[in-house]
Amino acid sequence: MMDEFASESDSDYTSYWRDWFISSRGNEYFCEIDEDYLTDRFNLTGLNTEVQYYQYALDLITDVFDLDCDDEMRETIEKSARHLYGLIHARYVVTTRGLAKMLDKYKKADFGKCPRVFCHSHPLLPMGQTDVPSQKAVKLYCVRCEDVYNPKSSRHAAIDGAYFGTSFHNIMFQVYPALVPPKSAERYIPRVYGFKVHASAALIRWQNGNRADMLRRLRKLEVESGFKDDVVEDDLDEEEEEDDLGADGAEGGGDAMHVQWDARQIGLPVLNGRGSRHGRSDIATIVQPYRPSGE
Ligand SMILES: [Zn+2]
Repeated sequence: MMDEFASESDSDYTSYWRDWFISSRGNEYFCEIDEDYLTDRFNLTGLNTEVQYYQYALDLITDVFDLDCDDEMRETIEKSARHLYGLIHARYVVTTRGLAKMLDKYKKADFGKCPRVFCHSHPLLPMGQTDVPSQKAVKLYCVRCEDVYNPKSSRHAAIDGAYFGTSFHNIMFQVYPALVPPKSAERYIPRVYGFKVHASAALIRWQNGNRADMLRRLRKLEVESGFKDDVVEDDLDEEEEEDDLGADGAEGGGDAMHVQWDARQIGLPVLNGRGSRHGRSDIATIVQPYRPSGE
């Protein structure tokens, strides 16, 4: 670990405190802030009121600390320095240099991998839910499923989310758009002995119908949808198969009734008729409110 970070250092200058800080256990999410960035007071505007013993803390971070003090005082300044480093870190990681350093770490999956099965171990990025310090702990963002997760280790779960901020992870993908994977429709479909579970099957059919409609409309307008075509087609094929089954067998008929009933239970728009289930006709059919089947 130490070696990895040592190779990242920006100059021949050895940064003792920062080296120690980023190589300490639990601080793996932090990158090393450049000496140049730390010594430019413009970058630190406003932070002097956020941190106790600001000047001593900054001196410690930049390795010019030479105050003769007792252990208790030293510990207080040390604590301030860690907090100050975090606050500066939030500003640094959205700079070009900071983004590049965090990108290196992202590529090595230093922040962990998405626990969602269909994300296939996609690397995560740290993020804050607020930019105000001491409010919320750091979370991990997966760009593939666009969801947020708790860090696995309790050491990481205790880090302040404001040390990364609410914008960093989004800026990363704006600056490096190639990092955003194509949208995937791959997802888990609950089944009981091979048969789709009713309520979720209704939801998935409704979503698939809507997506198919949207894709058709986008294609007509020649807008790139961002969805991988193959996955969507697979999904539609699967729906087609099930439809055939429904048309032939009594089992399918029963299933359709359950779907309507369950859809009402969970407050979903009900799909009227076979045609609209595929969204072949128009989107208005799909979002119609439920009416008893006698109508
Ligand atoms: Zn994911």
